[in-house]
Amino acid sequence: MLGVALAFAVVANARAIPLDEVPEGSLGLSAGVYVERDKVLTIEDALSRLERGEFEPAGVAVPKFGIGAGPVWLHLSVENRGMESVARRLLAGVSWIDRLDVYMVERGRVVSDWLAGDGDARWQHPLGNLGYAFDHTFAPGTTDILLRAQTADPMVLPLRLLSAEDATAWMRLQDYGYGMLYGFLLALIAYNAVLFASLRDPNYLNYALYLGAFIVVNLGYTGRGYEWLWPQYAGLQQYVILVLMVVFGYTGLRFARRFLELERVSPRADRAVRLFANAGLCAIALSAVFEQRALAALVAFVFVLLFSVAMVGLGLLCSRRGKGDAHYFLAGAVVAMFGAATTALAVWVGLPYSETLFHVAELGIVIEGSLLALALAYRMRLIQTARMQAEHLSRTDPLTGLLNRRAFLDSAGAAWSTAVRSGRPLSVIVIDLDHFKTINDTFGHETGDRVLVAVAEVLRKSCRRGDFSARWGGEEFILILPETDAGQAMAMAERLLADIRAATVPEKVSGLRLSASLGVAERHRHDALEALIREADGFMYRAKQRGRGRVHGAQSDADARPVLAPD
Ligand code: GH3
Ligand code: MG
Ligand code: MG
Repeated sequence: MLGVALAFAVVANARAIPLDEVPEGSLGLSAGVYVERDKVLTIEDALSRLERGEFEPAGVAVPKFGIGAGPVWLHLSVENRGMESVARRLLAGVSWIDRLDVYMVERGRVVSDWLAGDGDARWQHPLGNLGYAFDHTFAPGTTDILLRAQTADPMVLPLRLLSAEDATAWMRLQDYGYGMLYGFLLALIAYNAVLFASLRDPNYLNYALYLGAFIVVNLGYTGRGYEWLWPQYAGLQQYVILVLMVVFGYTGLRFARRFLELERVSPRADRAVRLFANAGLCAIALSAVFEQRALAALVAFVFVLLFSVAMVGLGLLCSRRGKGDAHYFLAGAVVAMFGAATTALAVWVGLPYSETLFHVAELGIVIEGSLLALALAYRMRLIQTARMQAEHLSRTDPLTGLLNRRAFLDSAGAAWSTAVRSGRPLSVIVIDLDHFKTINDTFGHETGDRVLVAVAEVLRKSCRRGDFSARWGGEEFILILPETDAGQAMAMAERLLADIRAATVPEKVSGLRLSASLGVAERHRHDALEALIREADGFMYRAKQRGRGRVHGAQSDADARPVLAPD
């Protein structure tokens, strides 16, 4: 085509932009558009239509034609007013355009032409997120740039004309931006993969997969995948972006279902989501197998939009039903939906395409990624709190809130060891309520329970720092008193007995008299905690035998000092 002379001397069209006044952004507002209807136009055909004034003003900075649009011609006229040639780089289209034919026309003659697009591996490949680049040296005078674009995907045609330095600077800016985006996402993925490996919680894996899917689909639609990963496979490139869009949504839904425990919260919603996700995969697979490009694009875009809405819906549903960590999920989903929908609509229909709107999905995923990381951390905290609560419950007696026997033995064991090591005194008091069966029988089991709670309260109040009290069994209690010798422990037991007698249950029950038998033992005669407890227990039985309502210890046998039993 190069050098083919055309019948027209000068191509008449929109005002030419002076080369030294070309704005930095997309030049659509200065461009003319012609949509091919039924016939494939050659450059000669296009030039004659241009001549006849059949091109219309594009009217927007970035001309956009939606999914499945016919081939489109763009025309742009530039004027080099100087005396010398000027080198410029034309950046045109987006990575997924199937075929771009670009012509530089001077005075009706094509002086350069290129074939680019991802439709064939032999054509010029896209540059990451910059579309296609064409270097041309503009001779003095007017040059017409004609560009024919064809794709089954959403047709978006940004058009920039930059100096080599500006183009390089812009490219570097893009590269830094994507370096940061991928760095952030990869760090999150690595962190969650490690968490999954150590905690075995599938939520972390699903989350890492979801973020990974975003990176891959982003590599796809920015053209980096084709540039770096599969430059030989134009056939793959035709479908990979669309398939990955659906896979991205699929991994997102998979994460959501598990994270929100959707099956438990709402089995119906769970079924619907599963159905939707699988239907999306099937539809995109079938479109690819039957090579229906435009249908595949439609499926992918509709799926991603519905997916975004579904994520927000699920977040709403689950936070309404009181799942605490669903709030973070919801906030993340709203941001990501806004991002994905904005980018999809900017590329497809509804929103004007712009560089900023194109990047909103990336910003959305960064914010969502952070919020979901928070959600997972919050989830971990909930699990930890629940575990601590369970542990606390397993150590306490549910009725009285005192330690249970197992927990008492743990704590007492430590106190025992300390006393043995330091050679300090340590005593144990065993308490058994008197005639408790009769209390139950006379006043009812509930009153019996209240008595146990009241006695527990007496014990709690009497304990100093370092003492432990516990419910040993039914109506038996136990105390361990570090730094307390037999004499002090006996005195304390007497006080306890007096307090138990004086204790009242919340609602006054007339005729209810409380009393207890207490056994006291000191450490120095024993070499094991169990033996000490056994001795205190033995003294408690002795107290029962001697008529109940009294304290019994080692000295009691020597100088028995009976305590009056209640009448
Ligand atoms: P003694 O003076 O010889 O100790 O007589 P007692 O009736 O207190 O002793 P016994 O061991 O015969 O009876 C203990 C009773 O404590 C029997 C059991 O039903 C009651 N009991 C055990 N646990 C609970 C409880 O959690 N709540 C209530 N209300 N009663 C309990
Ligand atoms: Mg008893
Ligand atoms: Mg008993």
